[in-house]
Amino acid sequence: MKSIKNKLSEIKSKIDEKVTVVAVSKTKPIYDILKLYEDGHFDFGENKVQELIVKNKELPKDIKWHMIGHLQRNKVKQIISFIHLIHSVDSIRVLNKINDEAKKINRKVNVLLQVKISENDLKYGFDLNEVQNLLENDFLKKYDFVNVLGLMGMASFTQNNNIINDEFKALNSIYSKFKKTYKFTTLSIGMSGDYELALKNNSNMLRLGSIIFGHRS
Ligand SMILES: *Cc1c(COP(=O)(O)O)cnc(C)c1O
Repeated sequence: MKSIKNKLSEIKSKIDEKVTVVAVSKTKPIYDILKLYEDGHFDFGENKVQELIVKNKELPKDIKWHMIGHLQRNKVKQIISFIHLIHSVDSIRVLNKINDEAKKINRKVNVLLQVKISENDLKYGFDLNEVQNLLENDFLKKYDFVNVLGLMGMASFTQNNNIINDEFKALNSIYSKFKKTYKFTTLSIGMSGDYELALKNNSNMLRLGSIIFGHRS
């Protein structure tokens, strides 16, 4: 069996170095993260605030933590001082909250807007039309303590690559349309099962869990 270290370096060797791989370590132990860290990997993703806080406490401070799961407003405060990138901003209310909490500690916080591109029962994210409308109306101007670096999306859970491709394409078209205006740098699409399709659709940030760490129980 290949080590998680080998799995990650194999994937990295196949993709452009401009693409950031976020190793999604949710449910996985500290020592798995350390193995990759000691091998020079610094970007890790978690989807639960509680787990993120514990891991942040126990692990080296130069790890770049990515929050990729739904973030409740009352938990923003707990991660605001150390989070590297919040991928999962799915409402104006949570964006306002992040701005308020960031202002209190005078730290500019990096975020992505999560867009609902799948027809599935995924509950979170702005609708495509909604996000397009917001961006057309220059609404990001008023956030002094938030850097919106780009967009994030999750494709449908399906074997049908055409569906996944269409979903990624739709998100990339909005991303590309507003890239210049907002100086976007980051399109976070692609997970273990669909990252190759995501790369074909301009992804420069992959969130990879099971393909590196093995299946989660
Ligand atoms: C768990 C998770 C991933 C990683 O999923 P894998 O299929 O294991 O690669 C990526 N993005 C989000 C938002 C997740 O919750």
